[in-house]
Amino acid sequence: MHFEFSPAERAFAEEVRSFLRAHPPETFPIDGMDAGYGSGAHSRPFLRALADQGWLSLTWPRAYGGQERPLTHKLLLFEELAAAAAPFGPLAGCDQTAEGIIRYGSEHLRREVLPRIARGDATFWQGFSEPDAGSDLLSLKTEAARHGDEYVIRGHKIWSSHAGISSYGLVLARTGPAARRSQGLSMFVVDNATPGMDIRPIRSLTGEVYHYEVFLDEVRVPAECLLGKEGEGFTQLLRGLDTDRFWGRFYKAPMLRRVLDELVRHANETTRNGVPLARDSAIRRRLASLATEIEAVRLLFYRIGWMLQEGLPTPYETALCKVMADELGQAVAAFGMEMLGLYAPLTQDSRSAKLRGSIQHLYQTSMGQTIAGGTSEVLRSTVATRGLGLPSEPRVRD
Ligand SMILES: Cc1cc2nc3c(=O)[nH]c(=O)nc-3n(C[C@H](O)[C@H](O)[C@H](O)COP(=O)(O)OP(=O)(O)OC[C@H]3O[C@@H](n4cnc5c(N)ncnc54)[C@H](O)[C@@H]3O)c2cc1C
Repeated sequence: MHFEFSPAERAFAEEVRSFLRAHPPETFPIDGMDAGYGSGAHSRPFLRALADQGWLSLTWPRAYGGQERPLTHKLLLFEELAAAAAPFGPLAGCDQTAEGIIRYGSEHLRREVLPRIARGDATFWQGFSEPDAGSDLLSLKTEAARHGDEYVIRGHKIWSSHAGISSYGLVLARTGPAARRSQGLSMFVVDNATPGMDIRPIRSLTGEVYHYEVFLDEVRVPAECLLGKEGEGFTQLLRGLDTDRFWGRFYKAPMLRRVLDELVRHANETTRNGVPLARDSAIRRRLASLATEIEAVRLLFYRIGWMLQEGLPTPYETALCKVMADELGQAVAAFGMEMLGLYAPLTQDSRSAKLRGSIQHLYQTSMGQTIAGGTSEVLRSTVATRGLGLPSEPRVRD
């Protein structure tokens, strides 16, 4: 067991910190809300600044313009960005899509889309969920039918994060008979500007827009926009979701640590009824136990990152760490609300708001986290079956 980053890895982390000092994250304009994952808000200009460093293609093969750096460099990049509250919202989605295109994509997608990702010019939304298909994604109804050199897609997606401000959707559609549930699905990279795409915002609990509803009405895409072969969509999805659970949550521990440090500062600077909050034993105990849990989640993520780097299978580990990270995020936000008391619900625009109103925002966005990318209930079932060897639950029939 070797619990240390190498000199090259430490040097890279310092390179990222020095970039952040030269490009203060708070000076970049924002184009989409922070949804509480730890990756901050969406900022295309910040994405382009990362692209200028070559960091959007850090681990890609050289043949596709990448630097072939080890996966730990990507971990360190994400960690430093989250610790600095940088607005790198679209980064994980770009990275996962690039991985999918490198692995399964046609020459057309590799030639057209990869360079746009590397330059910070293309961002992505995921078109999986539908009004009647969430946890049971295999019951999705969106269809894609081949006509000559094109596919024609018809369907309705919902909860598509940041769809309205992205460039392309990764759309899962049925290309085979519904009876062959998992074999009949295929994944398409669909340009948002394609005629027939109708993308409508859904306002979230915070009052901002994060989710969109997407109607696809006879959307015609070139056959080369199919990822891999027809019928491979479900396998690609499982692979993508597995890494999504890791890469979509890895930076939660550094983000929560940053929030906890702010709460500690607040406790040190605030008195209530003449007693400093920092001397209140209940508050001290809660802060200490949250700090312990954050450290445990951070180490768990490192371990799974190491497993991914070594190419080891992670049949249930990413489910396990997503459940832990998201539920811990809710616990930190709920404790922050409790600690700030009557100041807690005040938003950023209130003069009396504490910690810039960030805790109420985190609290509200944290609620969706245990649903997005697989609910905690479904993921616990994955841990029970694949991790503990328990039999699967019987399907409920209606
Ligand atoms: C913040 C956020 C971002 C999202 N972003 C996207 C996105 O970008 N793209 C996209 O496609 N979708 C996205 N989603 C949608 C998300 O993937 C679905 O909401 C999720 O898969 C659950 O599906 P559902 O909402 O239909 O709920 P259902 O599947 O109907 O579940 C309802 C309840 O039943 C429980 N349940 C269902 N099945 C089981 C089971 N087998 N065992 C135990 N309990 C079960 C669930 O845990 C849940 O509590 C997002 C959701 C959120 C909250």
